[in-house]
Amino acid sequence: MATAQAPQQKFDILVAGAGASGLIAAIALARTGHSVALVGKTPGPLPGRTVALFEGSLRHLDDLGLREPLEEIAAVVKGIRIIDDTSSLFRPPPALFTADEIGLDAFGLNVPNDDIVAMLSKVLDSMREITRIEAFVSTYDFRADGVTAFLDDGREIECAVVVAGDGRNSPARKAAKIEIKEWSYPQTAITGILRHRRPHDGITTEFHTRFGPFTFVPMPSTDEAPRRSSLVWLMPPAEAKRRLALKPRELAAEIEDQSHYRYGAIEIEGSLGAFPMAGMRTLKVSGPRLMLVGEACHVFPPLGAQGLNLGIRDSADAALALDGVDLSNAKAIDSAVAEFEKSRRADIDIRTRGVDILNRTLLADFLPVDFLRGVGLAAVTAIGPLRRAILREGIEPTLARTLANFAPGSRG
Ligand SMILES: Cc1cc2nc3c(=O)[nH]c(=O)nc-3n(C[C@H](O)[C@H](O)[C@H](O)COP(=O)(O)OP(=O)(O)OC[C@H]3O[C@@H](n4cnc5c(N)ncnc54)[C@H](O)[C@@H]3O)c2cc1C
Repeated sequence: MATAQAPQQKFDILVAGAGASGLIAAIALARTGHSVALVGKTPGPLPGRTVALFEGSLRHLDDLGLREPLEEIAAVVKGIRIIDDTSSLFRPPPALFTADEIGLDAFGLNVPNDDIVAMLSKVLDSMREITRIEAFVSTYDFRADGVTAFLDDGREIECAVVVAGDGRNSPARKAAKIEIKEWSYPQTAITGILRHRRPHDGITTEFHTRFGPFTFVPMPSTDEAPRRSSLVWLMPPAEAKRRLALKPRELAAEIEDQSHYRYGAIEIEGSLGAFPMAGMRTLKVSGPRLMLVGEACHVFPPLGAQGLNLGIRDSADAALALDGVDLSNAKAIDSAVAEFEKSRRADIDIRTRGVDILNRTLLADFLPVDFLRGVGLAAVTAIGPLRRAILREGIEPTLARTLANFAPGSRG
């Protein structure tokens, strides 16, 4: 890794944001042969937050040499169990989906957010093709002939293209005046790491409650704690406030209760996190000389573990669109940006709307909606080909690719 000191420097591509999406984008873009600067400060800790990454994402990470270091810090997820815990009249029976049904050893890996960011940072710091700049971008000047980024430490970066992984309030998106639609849900997610008496057997268990999912995801064992899971528990904000004020043992007892004692006695390890649930989508995922990746262009609640998986596909598509492009040619850049827009649109829309609908059906407490959700899950469970198609789509989306290929003017 090189470090930039001069007040003004030039790179082909500036990646903004040192969260997981920005780091993965920078590593992927460095493979395209362009010079890359990553501008961002090391993010603070996200207590109790983990990300489950599916096989499709792991294949992209493998191409970047990131799968092996990830495997060292992650737990394997071999199956997903869904339990309707809404007390609805139309409650389908619990459903267990396992990776071997679609010929895989595992659906993916679950890893603490802070650990994946630290691992990606370490890899990035060892890459001579990337210049890391510990600063924030204050403002951008997007012009027809290039982009200038003005940093908060007084430096200026000239580049041909910006790839922005600068989070849900994305300054790059604002500078490019890309419109967004934002909404909120009456839910807060409490996150934490739990030690428990009974094994998880490599299975994620998602209880669907009337207030949203209550999910246990396998975590790697440690010497002191052989059985660990991460918790994501959605609930009304007032309940989250009450629960966060409890003593750890009292809260552990509520978690045991809510899990119907499936995991036996529970102990909370370390700090808990609390995250208000919101949604955001952008009218476009690109602008002139700009591509958005990760939460800069999609935010939704953690149902079905989709967020960073989508962010990884954003980064992979940004690198694909810019690979081999002559960045001194404005028309070639316009075409690459248009290709990125087309390849990402359907995938992001399907995930954002799908998660929104599922979350709202849980919150609805309305019989016809319960009926449709119950019938939907029962059909997916019972009809073999549908079941396998949905499992495959969950881990390596192809529907969005098909739609993107049918879009007018598509190359594919
Ligand atoms: C409770 C919970 C559970 C989740 N579980 C899963 C899961 O199991 N699987 C999954 O795939 N996803 C999951 N997600 C979603 C996932 O965590 C997010 O999609 C992911 O962390 C977003 O990463 P990001 O890099 O896009 O954004 P961020 O992590 O927000 O990073 C953005 C970065 O940009 C930086 N930045 C901001 N402004 C500037 C600037 N001007 N200049 C430079 N840098 C800037 C910020 O400091 C930050 O470091 C979950 C989310 C939640 C809330």
